[in-house]
Amino acid sequence: MQPIIYLDNHATTPLDPTVLESMMPFLTTEFGNASSKSHAYGWKAEFAVEKAREQVARLLGAQSKEIIFTSGATESNNTVLLGVAEKAADRGKHIITTKIEHKCILDTGKYLASKGYDVTFLPVNSSGQVRVEEVKAAMRPDTILLSVMFANNEVGTINPIAELGALAHERNVFFHTDAAQAVGKVPVNVDAMNIDLLSLSAHKMYGPKGIGALYIRRKNPQVEITPLVHGGGQELGLRSGTLNVPGIVGLGKACEIAGSHMSAEIARVTALRERLYRGLQERIGEVSLNGHPTDRLPQSLNVAFPYVESDSLVARLTNIAVSSTSACMSAASIPSYVLAAMGVEPERIHGSIRFGLGRFTTEEEISYTIDTVSTAVKELQAASPLYQLRQSDAKK
Ligand SMILES: *Cc1c(COP(=O)(O)O)cnc(C)c1O
Repeated sequence: MQPIIYLDNHATTPLDPTVLESMMPFLTTEFGNASSKSHAYGWKAEFAVEKAREQVARLLGAQSKEIIFTSGATESNNTVLLGVAEKAADRGKHIITTKIEHKCILDTGKYLASKGYDVTFLPVNSSGQVRVEEVKAAMRPDTILLSVMFANNEVGTINPIAELGALAHERNVFFHTDAAQAVGKVPVNVDAMNIDLLSLSAHKMYGPKGIGALYIRRKNPQVEITPLVHGGGQELGLRSGTLNVPGIVGLGKACEIAGSHMSAEIARVTALRERLYRGLQERIGEVSLNGHPTDRLPQSLNVAFPYVESDSLVARLTNIAVSSTSACMSAASIPSYVLAAMGVEPERIHGSIRFGLGRFTTEEEISYTIDTVSTAVKELQAASPLYQLRQSDAKK
């Protein structure tokens, strides 16, 4: 069997072999509990965890004591929303977020709304960006938290994070960003961007699954949250439970690698993505981009093919792994709420495909993808009665 070309890097990324190598000792001989203070097994584990904390902090321009480890971005996001909501409830119960967040923000927001909080889900513009003016208008004296994703997982659009952070700080509102898709892909700096809380996930940046981190600002302002998980008091009492030492070491290594190759990787993957986009346009003709033309992750290409059902297209692409929507939604086969919030017409949503390039994507894979996808699209279009009708109309 031919290997399947992997272009679904927004859903998850493969483990970088160097990351695996860094983890191996902690899966075998160095099995100590990082909380064991009485022997070398514990000390070595703790030392490795603290090194990883510094590696994560460095990538974000943060202090290592501002990083806590979690099981991933879902847990980090839940910790922020529930933890700030409870801690700041005496100041207010209003939270602002957007309609295009990941399900773990949307559903936690809805849960809080059911518990007496007031949660505003802001719309986005046609390229998937939240408008700063609209956020400003939504701010109230009882607003405690603004949570806006850094980059969207379906279309890759990047939000005006620094501006949103500045606005939140003006109003004494904590600013959180779900940066699961952005960290390691584009520069992120918590100070320059006025970020108070940030969620990230290792498996979106060539690290292992089931590990992530949460950045919590310690000063200007000092952010306080109520913990979600209670117990042994690990992670400053904010996230109890025996630390996942191999996972943490892998996340640290993933951050180090991403940081040291970032600008070269942005240039390389942007060139590949533009080649893919141009190649598809040349072969197919009408191909429309979903997302922002420039404020977008270099890895993201979400496009709509007219007169094509993306599910039929994905089914034909047996040796290319792509997705018609985000992984968590595709199980339910619900049309993308992200594209709908951007005002994309239903027919165009049904013909949209997400290509997610990554660190291991090659030139040859892109050439093969252009050939295979354009052939499949043309076959599907030829079988579409609507397409035939339009072609004969055009000839008249
Ligand atoms: C993947 C993803 C998550 C969830 O992260 P997990 O670590 O898998 O829980 C949250 N937000 C965004 C934007 C994501 O892409």
